[in-house]
Amino acid sequence: MKRLAGVSARGLALAIVLFALLNQPFGQPASRAAEPAGPVQPAVTRTGVPRLIDLGSTECTPCKLMWPALEAMKTEFAGKLAVEFIDVGKRENLPLARQYGIRLIPTQVFLDAQGKDLWRHEGFISRYGILDKFRELGYGFAADALKPAFSRLDAKPDARPKGKTCYFCDGDIDARTAVVVKTDKGNVRLCSPHCYFIMYSCLTGDKAGFEEKVSVTDWVTGELVPFTEAVYLYGLDEKTGRPWIRAFADRTAAEKERASAGGSILGWQVLGEKELATRCGFCDRAVYPEDAALVKIDGVYSWGCCSHCAMGVAARTGKDIEVRQRDRLTGQMIVVRTLGGYVQSIEPATAVAWFGKKRTADGKYVSAGCFHQGFFTTPGNLKKWAELHPSEVGEMISIDQALGDKMKMTASQIAKACKLGECAPK
Ligand SMILES: [Zn+2]
Ligand SMILES: [Zn+2]
Repeated sequence: MKRLAGVSARGLALAIVLFALLNQPFGQPASRAAEPAGPVQPAVTRTGVPRLIDLGSTECTPCKLMWPALEAMKTEFAGKLAVEFIDVGKRENLPLARQYGIRLIPTQVFLDAQGKDLWRHEGFISRYGILDKFRELGYGFAADALKPAFSRLDAKPDARPKGKTCYFCDGDIDARTAVVVKTDKGNVRLCSPHCYFIMYSCLTGDKAGFEEKVSVTDWVTGELVPFTEAVYLYGLDEKTGRPWIRAFADRTAAEKERASAGGSILGWQVLGEKELATRCGFCDRAVYPEDAALVKIDGVYSWGCCSHCAMGVAARTGKDIEVRQRDRLTGQMIVVRTLGGYVQSIEPATAVAWFGKKRTADGKYVSAGCFHQGFFTTPGNLKKWAELHPSEVGEMISIDQALGDKMKMTASQIAKACKLGECAPK
């Protein structure tokens, strides 16, 4: 029932509760299927032309928000899906509203070719939401419409030597900032103290004493130093405001560096407090706002460590959100607003998402993690970025699907999202 919880107070207030006014007993109550945990493969293949009946009114904002998509679907799926709109604001249509037993508007009734009630939804629903449900119900036209227009499931293997890439972000390791973490399965190398804190923030289980397993690189000598014995010069990049961190075995050396580079000298505990203070609103990872998507929920700001996590904040909180995330190729801003667990608007409207995937040992494709996701203002930008990153595997999906995949997650799946343990160092 996640989507019900996802309908905002605003959305519900706008969806006029109509039938209290009618003083008539309800027909069959609107029902919702329990949300499945992940994409559901259709159990049956259905034929014939199904019908989508939207019962709404010209006075209701969520109703009006849906119309352009519904109008376009009439033409796009002519002969495959019958789309009808019933204005229950008109007195002559009240018997129909009673016949369908609706409780509030808008309500969408999904019917098969024989007129059998397959599913109902109350409140705003997007084109993607409608098609995804018809796909789940076994209609091929919807599955075809949702197929990714661009995908790359086999990519050039990463040619860089293993010890030179960060276990966490896959970035090149700078020898002056490398971090080494001892694990049961051997040493893991990270590009920077920041990536160590991201790793630390998503460890599951008891973290007490974990820092004893960590060594950092002395900025001056290049030697490894125990993490808790080093001092840290912490500064901000002048152009971006993004923090940088340099480790020193010796305080005098750190002070000398500060004289030219600026910044503040911190011990590991204070550094940790700073690094762990800002978290992804979906997966709890430590994040720099400069790297993250901004997420607005009820006027409060949060962050998404990647574009998909940003959409996940709607699933985790059950609220409508506004996401501001930059095109991964050009840096141009993309603004997404959600309503009731679906995408209400995207600026620019052409924006799409890249779902970065990786292949598991048993041949299945799963999410490649937060560093491999992104939004793009156009499919063209996405393809250009994919060309520039030949080892990235994945597919182009709609931003609505990026949200829809998160909305299908259960609370316990969300609690485990992006945590180490699922992707423990190997
Ligand atoms: Zn890294
Ligand atoms: Zn996240």
